[in-house]
Amino acid sequence: MADALYIGRLAPSPTGRYHLGNLSTALLAQLRALRSGGRLIYRLEDLDGPREAAGSAASIADDLRWLGIHWSEGPDRGGPHGPYIQSERLDRYAAAVAQLEGSGHLYRCTCSRKEIAEVLSAPHGSFPASLLYPGTCRARTEAGDEEPHALRFRAGGLVVVEDALAAPLVVDTAADPGDAIVRRRDGCFAYHLAVVVDDLAMGVSEVVRGRDLLSSTALHMQLAAALGQPYPATCHVPMIVDAISARLAKRDGALGRPELEAAGYTPALLRGAFACIWGFADRLDALSVEELAALWRDEPLRADALNLHPAMSRGPEALRLALSAR
Ligand code: GLU
Ligand code: ZN
Repeated sequence: MADALYIGRLAPSPTGRYHLGNLSTALLAQLRALRSGGRLIYRLEDLDGPREAAGSAASIADDLRWLGIHWSEGPDRGGPHGPYIQSERLDRYAAAVAQLEGSGHLYRCTCSRKEIAEVLSAPHGSFPASLLYPGTCRARTEAGDEEPHALRFRAGGLVVVEDALAAPLVVDTAADPGDAIVRRRDGCFAYHLAVVVDDLAMGVSEVVRGRDLLSSTALHMQLAAALGQPYPATCHVPMIVDAISARLAKRDGALGRPELEAAGYTPALLRGAFACIWGFADRLDALSVEELAALWRDEPLRADALNLHPAMSRGPEALRLALSAR
């Protein structure tokens, strides 16, 4: 019997240009879909208005197309699961919040300190202990509608996250991330809520994303269960780190398409360079997306992080030389 159709997704936040690490994750999502005979949905995660960088939504879509990534549904193409822009899906999040509230999974929190910082720190990086919400409002019943309040999810309990690549992880959601905010006091829906609502509503069968979000998956599984639906499979891919082992971040002006193109990379050569970074190949060749998909190996992708070769930024010739010398 054929497998149910594989549906993956690309879920960029328009907070800046995509760098090599983002491109790596997106390309791996494409390979996963291709290898399973499935397809990708493109969803723009633009709920964090203040962090939005002008023009980045367009540049991300352009850069992904340039790299050979293809989606069958998205803001540019439409499709049966639209709209594909989170800020146009607020009614869905409101309905999910109403459902969770009705089933007793949420409570009102009137605490003012730290909560904004907590939501803004999502989705990347684990929560510093100092930001773990102490549960002050958990047992309160008197918070009225008129009082400004955030809505928190009653987390807690052990969840086992079984991932396609990462080792099984046991998470106590009481400690990580704790009672997460699903709707901020200013009415904005939080990443954790929106991402789960959308992955369920869009019929996503596997979530491919960076290893930095692995522990969030436990909360996402609990949210899905509270909404009465099974959570998709997950595939958390390694982070790309530079020579000093720092995670690449948009704000560091890390390598992006303009720098890579200027250094001489065509899309085919960049795909070949990814094959080297991921441990699929030990020499640099120009590769089509299909050729790259055929080289897939799980083993090197089980690492939490993969090193960016220092010669990478100097262009394909420098990378080729450095690879042949080792
Ligand atoms: N929008 C998130 C980001 O750009 C992705 C979240 C996810 O893949 O679950 O980092
Ligand atoms: Zn509170």
